[in-house]
Amino acid sequence: PRQKLIAGNWKMNGLAADLEFLDAIGPAAAAADAEVLICPPATLLAEAARRAGAHGIMVGGQDCHAAVSGAHTGDISAAMLRDAGASHVIVGHSERRCDHGENDGIVRDKAVAALEAGLVPVICVGETQQEREAGRQEAVIAAQLAGSLPENRGQRELVIAYEPVWAIGTGLTAEPEDVQAMHAFIRSRLPDPASTRILYGGSVKPDNASTLLGLPDVDGALVGGASLKADDFIPIIQAGC
Ligand code: 13P
Repeated sequence: PRQKLIAGNWKMNGLAADLEFLDAIGPAAAAADAEVLICPPATLLAEAARRAGAHGIMVGGQDCHAAVSGAHTGDISAAMLRDAGASHVIVGHSERRCDHGENDGIVRDKAVAALEAGLVPVICVGETQQEREAGRQEAVIAAQLAGSLPENRGQRELVIAYEPVWAIGTGLTAEPEDVQAMHAFIRSRLPDPASTRILYGGSVKPDNASTLLGLPDVDGALVGGASLKADDFIPIIQAGC
């Protein structure tokens, strides 16, 4: 049995005052069977880690550079995230793939860098609407997995997040049977199928969380918009029991 992981991706949202969120969700997180991870913007990471620790909440970065250090103005290394208190880092989010031209090779290099720094990479994959309409979703996801997953990671943990691009921020969620089918397909292509957690992301809300989290191959959620307000996020944490 895989423990559920409920992760919030704040994207480019959040100022220092918004870290009160952590105290607001703290009791629900402490009471939950699920693990809870919050990925705030990098500016808030160190303070978030200090405040989250008291509640047993983990914090993560939203991206990292593939290199250990060097002349990469504006970028953040995996070791820096770890030093700030992160345990996880999201890599290959569709917004990074799209806005910053990150391809599978770059995503894999970032995942390797994360593992080497002692972080758990949350590796994102997902098809576009056009690809799904063409019936190509499994081929697309298979190619993304083949290109984005580190080859030799030993026993170190990684997490996969399946986020259909057309479901992100749109209020559209994939049908439960399509989510289950894709998660089972992803699991069949993983080196450690029994132990690797596969999260679903894309318009996860309080009213659909228990259906999605009840699917046999869904091991958690990667939540965008509904991770910004405690009133939305608490019921999602509770749905992960
Ligand atoms: P929404 O929950 O806002 O659709 O975002 C999903 C997402 O991209 C999480 O990484």
